[in-house]
Amino acid sequence: MKRFLYSVLCLCACLSMNAQVKYVFYFIGDGMGPNQVLATEMYLAELQGKIGRNRLGMTQLPYSGQLATFSASNGITDSSAAGTALATGSKANNGSLGLNAKGDTLTSVAEQLKADGWGVGLLTTVAIDHATPAAFYANVESRNDYYEIGRQLAYTGFDFFGGAGFHNPDPKYKDGKKEKKGKKKVTKQPAGSPNLYDLAEQQGYTIASGYKQALEKSKQAEKLILVQPTDGIDRSKKGSNFPYCIDGREDELSLKLLTNFATEFLQSRNSRFFLMVEGGMIDYACHGRDGAAAIQETLDFDGAIGFALEFYESHPDETLIIVTADHETGGMALGNSDYTLDLQLLKHQHCSAGTLSDELNELYKDNRQPEWDEVRALLEKRLELYTAVTVEDDEDEELHDVFKKTVENRNDSDVKTLYKDINALSNAAIALLNKKAKMGWTSYSHTAAAVPIFAIGKGAELFTGWQDNTDVAPKIIRLTR
Ligand SMILES: [Zn+2]
Repeated sequence: MKRFLYSVLCLCACLSMNAQVKYVFYFIGDGMGPNQVLATEMYLAELQGKIGRNRLGMTQLPYSGQLATFSASNGITDSSAAGTALATGSKANNGSLGLNAKGDTLTSVAEQLKADGWGVGLLTTVAIDHATPAAFYANVESRNDYYEIGRQLAYTGFDFFGGAGFHNPDPKYKDGKKEKKGKKKVTKQPAGSPNLYDLAEQQGYTIASGYKQALEKSKQAEKLILVQPTDGIDRSKKGSNFPYCIDGREDELSLKLLTNFATEFLQSRNSRFFLMVEGGMIDYACHGRDGAAAIQETLDFDGAIGFALEFYESHPDETLIIVTADHETGGMALGNSDYTLDLQLLKHQHCSAGTLSDELNELYKDNRQPEWDEVRALLEKRLELYTAVTVEDDEDEELHDVFKKTVENRNDSDVKTLYKDINALSNAAIALLNKKAKMGWTSYSHTAAAVPIFAIGKGAELFTGWQDNTDVAPKIIRLTR
């Protein structure tokens, strides 16, 4: 009898979990470790003069845990191996997409659900062929094989892609000749290979430049690719990433609005959908040790989760929302000297480290040697250093020394980060502001820190505990069948 009851209970549990999830939101904050989340909450509280947390949407999800993120080849993963693990449930080597450590082709949760008849959408703030979204559809040895990744995108049959565009819309090889010598292995494209936007259109995709055009075109579109707006669609232009929120990303590129749009697009075409949303530029900001930019990107990402939570309220029995990260970036620490934090100081920063670097570089243009006063005026304007943010004599001396180096040796003094070479003075000034806010950094790269996972909805309790990044995708599949 006991055994029978147990079986019935198991069956009930299985039935209640199985085949009822119809809407899956899979949020991935690229580079979003636990401190990126906590710093954002404590920053918001400090803005109101409080010590504590102003809760983000993601941390209010009722189930949570942690994921270890090491890859098959490295203790510290890159975004392609981590994306592959989150998308397929298999560890992969750093640099590769959609292949296990032996090189066998893997099938992602998005591809499996597409095969099951679901609508599928992938949305990001970076390029649609960047590592995280690409992990859901591409199988390539090198994440830098952008033309090949974009080519594979066109044949996915997925319903929606949204992001900055393609990295390399035109093939690297024309008429059998290599145009540029790449360091990594890149698939040779036959002569006359099409532009990726043309190829996507041939495969039934409508291309929309920006939100407004996407709204206009969506009714007629069978499948849609929404790219960052340009003047028209420049099919030769690289679409690497959205502007940073801290640099004034326009509302029509907010992840909340685009997640809303993608959801309506998918829901109007299918009774079940899977939508992956990546906050791709949290990682970019943390590669540059730019705390203020990282916080603004995390807030934008959380806005999209807020939309998904509203959707969940209307469909509580059929929705599953998972929020996690692929890895931590920068080794962000909260505390660097004593028992205080002063995160609110970051509110004085009005542009990203990259933009400050560009603006500084303008002052050095055509071998010009700027004066300290004009450089300092820029630091006052953009970071409120020397005005709202006090600069001590020794700190001033340090900045001045870096300034001298940049004048003597302009380009060689750049600090090389993954996505941008940063003017050393921009780097030093941002580092000073972060230091004063008591935010520390250990790396310009990724770390092995465990990342948070939050979940709500049908089967959300499965995503608790001290897990591995390969545990997530198989559980999603289990809940949808
Ligand atoms: Zn990264």
